[in-house]
Parts: sequence; C-alpha cells; structure tokens
Amino acid sequence: MAKKEFDRPERLQFTDAGYATDTLAVRAGQHRSEEGEHSDAIYPTSSFVYTSAAEAAATFGGDIEGNIYSRFTNPTVQAFERRIASMEGGERAIATSSGMAAILSLVLSLMKHGEHLVCSRSVFGSTVSLFDKYISRAGIETTFVDPNDLDAWRAAVRPETRMFFMETPSNPLAEVTDIRAVSEIAKESTAKLVVDNCFLTPALQKPLLLGADIVMHSATKYLDGQGRAIGGVVVGCDADMEEVFGFVRTAGTCLSPFNAWVFQKGLETMPLRMRAHSAAALELAQWLEQQPQVERVYYSGLDSHPQHELATSQQSAFGGVLSFEAKASDGDLRAAAWRLIDATQMISITGNLGDVKTTITHPATTTHGRMSAEARAAAGIRDNLVRVSVGLEDLDDIKADLQLGLNAL
Ligand SMILES: *Cc1c(COP(=O)(O)O)cnc(C)c1O
Repeated sequence: MAKKEFDRPERLQFTDAGYATDTLAVRAGQHRSEEGEHSDAIYPTSSFVYTSAAEAAATFGGDIEGNIYSRFTNPTVQAFERRIASMEGGERAIATSSGMAAILSLVLSLMKHGEHLVCSRSVFGSTVSLFDKYISRAGIETTFVDPNDLDAWRAAVRPETRMFFMETPSNPLAEVTDIRAVSEIAKESTAKLVVDNCFLTPALQKPLLLGADIVMHSATKYLDGQGRAIGGVVVGCDADMEEVFGFVRTAGTCLSPFNAWVFQKGLETMPLRMRAHSAAALELAQWLEQQPQVERVYYSGLDSHPQHELATSQQSAFGGVLSFEAKASDGDLRAAAWRLIDATQMISITGNLGDVKTTITHPATTTHGRMSAEARAAAGIRDNLVRVSVGLEDLDDIKADLQLGLNAL
C-alpha cells in the first residue's frame, strides 16, 4: 500500500490572518499531526523521545526545535496557548495550572524585590490575599485603589511601580473600570497594565486592543465554561511572555495537557456561549429590577448602571454574572439572602461561576467571607447581596426558580 501523501502540509494547519474571533475560537492554534485528525489530539505525556543521543543533546541544547518535558512545553498546551493568544490579539500566551498561578507567575517573573504594584481594590478575593499576604513577603508592595478614581491610580505611582492590576467588570458588584484611561496612566509611568478578563473573555472584550499590556484568565470559568477543570493563562507580547515562560517552566506552575485539551475544546463554543449567557443575564436583570422583593440590581447592561455608557464603549455585551440585593422585611439582611437562596430548587448553590449551569452565591458569607465586615462594607458588599451566574437553561425555568426564592422573602 502506498504511504499517505503529505505534500501539502499547510492544508492541515491554519493561519490566523484576517479571521474573526468566532473563527479563531474554532480553528486557531490547532496542532494537527500527520495522522490528519480533525478534532484536536491530546498528548498526555510527561516527556518525549529522540532517535539518537545526538538528537537528544541538540534538542536539550536548543539547537533544534523539539519538546523535552511537559513542564516546559507540550503540544496540547501550546495549541491552547496559540488559540487564546490569537483570540485576545496578543503575540503569545502561557498557560498555568490555575488563574491564581497565572497571577503569581506574572508577578514573580516581571517584578523583583523592592518594586511596587498598584491594584484595583475590586478584584477577586484570592488576588487580594496573594498580593497582600504572600507577594509582599518577596518585598513587592501593593497599593490598593478605588478603580474608578483615576487620580488615585496616578497618585499611587512611585518610581519603582512596575505593574497595574485590574478586573472589569468586577465581582460581585459589576463595577466597570475604564481600560483606556487606566492604560494611559500606566503609560505615563513604568507600569505595565494587567487586566483580568475572566468575566467577559475575548469574545466580549479585548483589553490588549484598548491599551492593556497583558491579559490574564482563570480558564476555570468561561474558557472551559462547563465547570470541569482548573487552569489559567496569561497573554501579552513576546518579550514579557518569554519571562513568564522562564518562570513557569522552572517553578512548575504549568498546565496539564488534559486540562489544556478541555480548555481548547471549550474555546470552540465560547463566543456562542458568551452571547447566550449575556442575553439571558440582561433579560433576567431587567426582570429582577421589576420585582418588588428586589432592592437593587447590579449589571453593567442595565440603563440604570452608573457606568453603562463606559461598559458599552469597551465591551460588546455584558456577560453572564449579575447580583442583586434582596429586601429584608424584618431588617435581617443575611437571613433574607439565605432564605431566598434556600428556596430555589434547580439553581446550584456554589461559589463557582461561568458554567452552563446557573449558580447562586451569597458573597458575604462565601467568596468574600474572609474579608472583615468593615472591608466588605467599604467595598459595598451588603449582607443581602446575592450573586447569580446565569447559565444556559431555559430562561423561563431560571426565572421560575428565582421566583421561588423571591416568594420566600
Ligand atoms: C476564579 C477567579 C480567579 C482565580 O482563578 P482560579 O482558576 O480559581 O485560580 C481570578 N480572577 C477572577 C476574576 C476569578 O473569577
């Protein structure tokens, strides 16, 4: 039997040039082997073999291109990295074992002892702990600022400031921060702007095109989208990513090939999912605003949101996460929120978000429970606040389930 022809290898690969985000989500970065597999293959291997000692030596020495060990490179992990990098409009991505590992790897590879970072105070709880409790031990100090006070960002800058870190929209109150304006302030200094793009993904917001230097993700959320795996990724220019790569391959904050494959497949449906999550969340937010048992709804897609116009100028939709305050007839805010949550039947009570399944969370006693009561009050997170990550179930069923909760107030 004749051997399979392989004289048009380019027909099996894909070049990004000129394609739209939805196309990149499905096709960018695929590693297709000479077997010609259509769906992405997975390479669950710790190491790689060589045909001779000389080839091994040349590969280890960097004289010829090739894989060595999956803490350094792995074809499945690289395929995921290429796909998310092209979707974000960045030169290169480096995948990590979690979203937190992405932040840790960024800071420890791009900063050193004696340098300083400025961080929005409205970021993920573990991000605050990481900077405040652990990164500080490496002699890197953090100043937390009100993300919407541009003068506060400017005033926090020191000669040794090397990084700005922010998240928009924020969790759980959907505060929107002006990426363009904060990037301008970063450019006046020696700081690089990092944006945690977890809540919107490149399907709805591309921070690098708005002036940010680096984007990071908890891939655990919408990149997977189905609650199956923990992982993270950072995206930026080649020079910065080479530093991050050096840290990740040495420190071992790398992503497993299996999880990379889950995320690679997750990206294929992500733009479609994000539009569906956003449409459902907007309708649900508008409906909640009409309910007599609801005091206030936080969602950047609402006309009543104080930064709705800013949100519209940097996002193409508003994402799947909203929160609202329940009316407490007897004045016990926490009890009202818990009553509402406990009266739902279908919606999952969990801390996670970004899943096809709708989830409901009481931030004050779970995700933000380790903050002091004063810090929570300063951040505007009240005890009657309930967060919903709107999934892909039929919207009428989601509303009916929340109605059970509202009826219990
Ligand atoms: C979950 C989350 C993280 C942390 O990611 P992990 O994958 O859980 O480590 C960081 N930022 C945001 C906005 C998140 O929601």
